[in-house]
Amino acid sequence: MKCRRCREPAVIDVRRHNAAFCQPCFLHHCREQVRRAIDEFDMVQPGERMLVAVSGGKDSLGLWHILSELGYPADGLYIGLGIGDYSDTSGRYAQEFADRFGYTLRHVDIRDEYGFDVPTGSRAAKRAPCSACGLSKRHLFNAVAMEHNYDVLATGHNLDDEAAVLFGNVLRWEAGYLGRQYPILPATDGFVRKVKPLVRLGERELAAYCVLSDIDYIVEECPMAAGNRHLGYKEVLNTIEERSPGSKAAFVFGFLEHAHHRFAGDATEEREDLGPCTVCGAPTPGDICAFCRMQARATGTRIPVTVTTSATMTAEGAELDH
Ligand code: SF4
Ligand SMILES: [Zn+2]
Ligand SMILES: [Zn+2]
Repeated sequence: MKCRRCREPAVIDVRRHNAAFCQPCFLHHCREQVRRAIDEFDMVQPGERMLVAVSGGKDSLGLWHILSELGYPADGLYIGLGIGDYSDTSGRYAQEFADRFGYTLRHVDIRDEYGFDVPTGSRAAKRAPCSACGLSKRHLFNAVAMEHNYDVLATGHNLDDEAAVLFGNVLRWEAGYLGRQYPILPATDGFVRKVKPLVRLGERELAAYCVLSDIDYIVEECPMAAGNRHLGYKEVLNTIEERSPGSKAAFVFGFLEHAHHRFAGDATEEREDLGPCTVCGAPTPGDICAFCRMQARATGTRIPVTVTTSATMTAEGAELDH
């Protein structure tokens, strides 16, 4: 097997591209995919301040590294979710990576700063753990980016994540979610711009990028992931991809090109009906945002009861984060 680019012996094949690469050319290929995504969707301009959501896993650490290699220096943000040893270990990987490359890592611990953790919040709000976790992360990523005046927030969602989320949203025809499923969400009142520069790279490519770049990342799964619908969707899509390489990319990029615009109006309508949360100021369709309500329930704090609408629950969400 020879490298497509330089004809030296290859170390990895990427079936979707019907190509194999040696180590330096594979790293180049990954950077090129991110550069193309950034250019194609106009994600970030030179000189803008970027914050990367970092979990200690391969996607977010790989993304942070690639962005820096491409000349987009970014700060990282790690959220301590209070999920036992998993959180402690993933936080260590994130910090060690930042220290090694001299990057700045911001750290928010929801137990220290908000008085609850994801397992408690999940029980108190009667939400599935991944739903409570996704809500907390979306809320805090946006809050920290706004507070510190970042221009753009980058997340490590890769092609496999996007395909699984799209699969779930199409299965239920979630029009609002489909309208927001795009590699860039522009800034609006109260929301920082959000971008997904890994949309052109698959999970296996990210894992290989980290291994070939000597980046240590947390390999173990979050213990709360069991039963997560998205893992099931990923399995189904992996079976299809195995038989027909390129299916995931065709599914996601076909949607972006041919169908996304049909749902964009549904997402805009939801964003237009938002006002500031009376507790934290974040945009919300009710008086009090879903994060503050979960915090109040989890910590036993009394807050005025508001009517909960489905829009309240979903106001800033793609589905889950994994
Ligand atoms: S699997 Fe991901 S979204 Fe679910 S609880 Fe764990 S870290 Fe959060
Ligand atoms: Zn090569
Ligand atoms: Zn709030």
